[in-house]
This record gives sequence, structure tokens and C-alpha cells, in this order.
Amino acid sequence: MGEINPQRVNFLYARLRDLKLVHGAGSQPLALVFQSQPRTATLDLTAQERRFLADIKTVRYAIDEAGWPPFEFLGADGRAQGIASDYLDLIAQRLGITFERVSIADWQAALDAVQARAVDLLPSAAETPDRKRYMGFTNHYVTSPMVIVSRGDVDFIPSIAQLVGLRVGVVKGYASDELLTRFHPDLALVRYGSTLEGLRHLAAGEVDVFVDNLAASIHIIKTHGLANLKISGQTPYDFDLTMGVRNDWPLLISAVNKVLASMTVQEHNAIYDKWVDLQVASPFPWTRVLPWLTALVLTVGVLLAYSVRMKVMNRRIQDTNDNLRQVQQALRDKNAQLLEASIRDKLTGTFNRHHLDAILGKEFERYQRYHSPFSIVMFDLDHFKRANDQFGHQAGDEVLRQFCAIVLQTIRHSDTFGRWGGEEFLLICPETSAQQALVVADKVRQAVETATLYPGLRQTVSGGVKESTGCRSLDEQILAADNKLYEAKQAGRNRIMV
Ligand code: GH3
Ligand code: MG
Ligand code: MG
Repeated sequence: MGEINPQRVNFLYARLRDLKLVHGAGSQPLALVFQSQPRTATLDLTAQERRFLADIKTVRYAIDEAGWPPFEFLGADGRAQGIASDYLDLIAQRLGITFERVSIADWQAALDAVQARAVDLLPSAAETPDRKRYMGFTNHYVTSPMVIVSRGDVDFIPSIAQLVGLRVGVVKGYASDELLTRFHPDLALVRYGSTLEGLRHLAAGEVDVFVDNLAASIHIIKTHGLANLKISGQTPYDFDLTMGVRNDWPLLISAVNKVLASMTVQEHNAIYDKWVDLQVASPFPWTRVLPWLTALVLTVGVLLAYSVRMKVMNRRIQDTNDNLRQVQQALRDKNAQLLEASIRDKLTGTFNRHHLDAILGKEFERYQRYHSPFSIVMFDLDHFKRANDQFGHQAGDEVLRQFCAIVLQTIRHSDTFGRWGGEEFLLICPETSAQQALVVADKVRQAVETATLYPGLRQTVSGGVKESTGCRSLDEQILAADNKLYEAKQAGRNRIMV
């Protein structure tokens, strides 16, 4: 079940001795502890022990032939069986000796035979003061808890105190009888000859519970089909099984103890499990498992819900991000549209006065800094008032649009053309002399003259050109272009003046 710290045992022992609660045992407190020797795979027998074992070779033993399953009993073939027998096989193999059973029907006779040295060993004998006169005892090799057996309809019995007022069965003279009589005198004990007898009476309802060691109880319940019985509680007591050995053979005792100490926990368990089927007494432990199971289910549920929630949140964040991106794009588009609209004339789609001003400012600045000349052409449709009067305002609008289309087809890519106001338009030609601008402007004039801007209408245009060279300000240049336009009108229209 675990490890024992020797320092702690020594400390506790010293305290108990100071309090006069323990006597004797001398300076060997660890000898009080079952299996206190460290477990080793090797035997480490002394030369003395080896010599002794080689001398005796055979050990005669006897069992209680009345049968005490699962510890010792006779099988159908007349051979000894049970937990004790399995231990004997193992000890024989490890010590290189043989065990020879002496058949003695009566248990008391077996004890007498040990006293007479006709038998050397009893594989399952409890230690009593009387027996110690002629027997020594090995360490315990099996510990089986003392348990409370009841019929199936009885609930869990948490403690012995719960048994007051009930009829409690025990085997007469067994450790259970001894312990309950001594420590629980208020219990009403009913004594039986054997565990099997006691359990049969329990099954029949003669007593309310039966107290005995776990291994024996389960084995009998199982093998005798006492299906209505169950283990319903534990006592604080354990039943420890030892081997009794004639006390003039201490070297056999020490050798057996070394074998027991050398056995692994698995080896001990293998023998115990072979004879004691614990499942009979252990229904599925819902009370222990259910809280864990519930916690597990809840945890998994919470994690699942959390992950689903995270997924939904992520989805939402993503949707929001997508939305945001769309809105941002729409905004950019709108801004671009606004920007575009802010520099365009609504009717003709060409640049408006505001943009023309901006371009003119930049061009004039450039001219001032680098002395690279640019030219402007101021256009004005001839007798446009008449066109409006004759064909209506809608027709006038269409004429304006058609005029712009012609100009845009004629000018260069680097030129900027826009509506100055009403039916007046401005063309800005960077890096262009007045003469070159005149060529462009005249092309426009000719195109307008030959085209039909509106059915039935002969429309012409006049223009004034001015190069930046010599102008001290932009206003001066624009005024000059205006003056040239005026001159063109004066000279009879449908012409460009430079
Ligand atoms: P001129 O040859 O001396 O320039 O004669 P004109 O009739 O063009 O004279 P003026 O410049 O005085 O008249 C301009 C006319 O252009 C006045 C106005 O009715 C017309 N107009 C100005 N803006 C628009 C417009 O957006 N749409 C239309 N349909 N007509 C406009
Ligand atoms: Mg005008
Ligand atoms: Mg005009």
C-alpha cells in the first residue's frame, strides 16, 4: 500500500516508549512493521541459513483438513490448495527445499504434532501466546480486512457502531470473535462453527450480519452460490496470516521471511487475485465515478460551448471586417467621385472654372520658375444668344456639349480644357508658344465651322491666344487673351487672334 519511512517509525516508537505505551521489542522498532525490510529481488541468504536448508531438505507441514478456503483446503484430488499452498510452492522453489504434507485430520492434533516435532510447519497459523511456547512465526504474507457481510437488501454499513441492536454472526474462536468480544462488548454475537456455516445462517436470515475476513467471505459466497449476500461494510481490523514454524528452526523462519520480502507486489497480488474474486463485492462504483464523470461532461460541455462561441465571435468579427472593408471601399469610391465631381463641369463634363484656376496657377508658377512658356486660348461661341433664342435652351446646352466634344478630339493629351463660364471656354497648352497654340485653336475653329452641332444651326467660334512670355501676372495673361478674343469678335467672328 505504500512506503514506510524508518526514521518516522523510530521517532514514533521512541515517543510511545516514553509514554510507556509499548514494552519490550528492544531497539528493533522496525521489527514491529509488516514487510519492513526493503524488497529485494535477490535472497541474500546467510551461510548459516544455506547450510541449514541443505541439511533439512524436506519440511513436513500440515493443514486444517476441515478446510479454510481460500487460505488452505483440500481439493477434489486430495491435494492441499489455496493461498497458503501457492506460497509454499514459491518458497520451495526459491529456497530449493521440498514441502511434504503430513495428513492430520484434526487441527488440534496438528498443533500437537508441531509440539512433538512430528510436523515442522503450519502454513496458516495465527500467532497466540500459547502457541509461541513451541512455535515461531514468519512475517504476515496475507492481510485480509475484517468485513461486515449482510443480505443484499441492507444498505452500506459505515462502522461497527452501526451493528448495536443487530444479531452479529462470527466464527467461534476466530480473530473476529476475539476482537469484537474484547472491543465491542455491547454487540449481540451469535457464534458458529465455520465461516460457511455462519454465512449460510446469514443467508437464511438467522442473523442480520456476519463478520469475518474479506478473502474467506468472498470465496465462500462465490463458491457456494450465496448470491443474496454482499459485503456491506468494513471494520478497522485486519486479519494477518502467518506461517507457524517449530521454534527450534529459527533459520527456516528467517529464510522464509527473506523469500516473502523478495516477492514483488505483483507476485503477491497474483496469488491473492487467483483466490479472491473481488468483483463479487464491488458493484460498479457509481458514487465514486459519477462526480468525476459529471465534472468531465461539464468540462467538455463548457469547452465545447466556449469553442462554438469563439467560432461565432470570429465569424462575426470577420463579417464585420468584411463589412468595414466594403464600406471603406465605398467611401473611397465616393471620395473619388466627389473629387472628380468637384473638378468637372456638370453640363459638359469638361473641367470647371475651379480646376482651370488651379492648373493656371501651377502653370504660371512653373513658367516663373523655369521660364518655360505656356499659352492659353479663350474661346467664345459666336452669337450664341441667337442659337438659344431660335432653338431653345435645351438645344443651346446640346451645342455646348457638342462643341466640347470637338475640342477634346482636337487638342493634345497634355492640354487642359474646361468651361470658363456660360459659353466661354479656356484651353491651357503647357510648353507651347502662341504660334503653336494658334494652330490648335484654329483647328478647333475649323472643325466647329464644318460640323453640325445642332440640326439646322450654323455655329462658329472665336478665340484669343496669349503666351505667358512677358506677362507679369496670370491676370495679365488672361486679360490679354480676353482682349484678343474681343478683337476677334470685332474683326467679324469665326477667327482666332494672337
Ligand atoms: P457674341 O458673338 O458677341 O459672343 O454673341 P453672344 O450672343 O454669344 O453674346 P453673349 O456673350 O452676350 O451671350 C451669351 C449667351 O450665352 C447668353 C446666354 O443666354 C447664353 N448662355 C450662357 N450659358 C448658357 C448655357 O449654359 N446654356 C445655354 N443654352 N445658353 C447659355
Ligand atoms: Mg460670351
Ligand atoms: Mg458668345
